[in-house]
Amino acid sequence: MIQIFQSELLDVKNVSDSVKILRFSVPGNFDFKPGQYVSLSVPFQGKKLRRPYSIASSPGENYIETCVKLVDGPASKFIRTLKKGDCVELFGPAGKFLVDKNSLQNEIVFISVGTGITPFMSMIPCILKNKFDKKIIFIKGFRYEQDVLYDAEFETLKEKYQNFEFHNVLSRPKNPEFENRGYVQDFLEKYLGKNFRGHVYICGLSPMINAAKEKLISLGVEEKRILFEKYD
Ligand SMILES: Cc1cc2nc3c(=O)[nH]c(=O)nc-3n(C[C@H](O)[C@H](O)[C@H](O)COP(=O)(O)OP(=O)(O)OC[C@H]3O[C@@H](n4cnc5c(N)ncnc54)[C@H](O)[C@@H]3O)c2cc1C
Repeated sequence: MIQIFQSELLDVKNVSDSVKILRFSVPGNFDFKPGQYVSLSVPFQGKKLRRPYSIASSPGENYIETCVKLVDGPASKFIRTLKKGDCVELFGPAGKFLVDKNSLQNEIVFISVGTGITPFMSMIPCILKNKFDKKIIFIKGFRYEQDVLYDAEFETLKEKYQNFEFHNVLSRPKNPEFENRGYVQDFLEKYLGKNFRGHVYICGLSPMINAAKEKLISLGVEEKRILFEKYD
């Protein structure tokens, strides 16, 4: 059920100059499905704008977490001013970027760049906890080593579940020896191979999603097996 509610900012983590992880309180009856988002009300020029943010946490907690890239826009400016204890208006949950039950018949691939990782922080642990026994491959892209998000969390999942693997791809690694240098779409053949039969979930900005889709189709993945959420 979609609700509009007042929420307290319980925690703010400055991951870098331009990325924050925010934790918001939710009402006791708040329920969502992994992959959904909440919209934040943003005061702007005497009006109220709404900006959607995917939920990174798992259902059943008394908070929701999101991971936000700060750009040069009204929501980003507003979020920069927020501090622990502040109250904001949230609207949600909403969104149809959900795990399709048909995906669970086969291996699943997830692809993100930057904060496009956010819905997968909720979806992947949930699928694994539900005893999914086929392979999950997660390819996550960033620019530099210091931009990598949620690595410890995915490392813990990898240790716990033998059927889960993830690979970081960096477009501008500082380390000249870094193996996966480039863009996520350049590594699809390497990690999926040519006979991949499952579904692919992609999240991030349109240029990456379009490039990844094009590459997947060239590898024989039908368009109906590619599900995506565009942030722009
Ligand atoms: C369904 C949905 C879920 C979303 N979830 C998230 C999320 O979990 N985390 C998140 O950081 N953003 C997310 N976004 C994007 C977010 O809603 C805003 O667009 C973003 O915060 C910019 O808002 P703004 O008002 O600051 O700037 P605007 O003036 O609205 O946007 C300026 C430009 O910033 C670019 N932009 C938008 N998002 C990003 C991004 N993540 N990285 C780089 N450039 C970007 C776009 O090209 C846009 O044209 C989501 C968008 C959608 C549609």
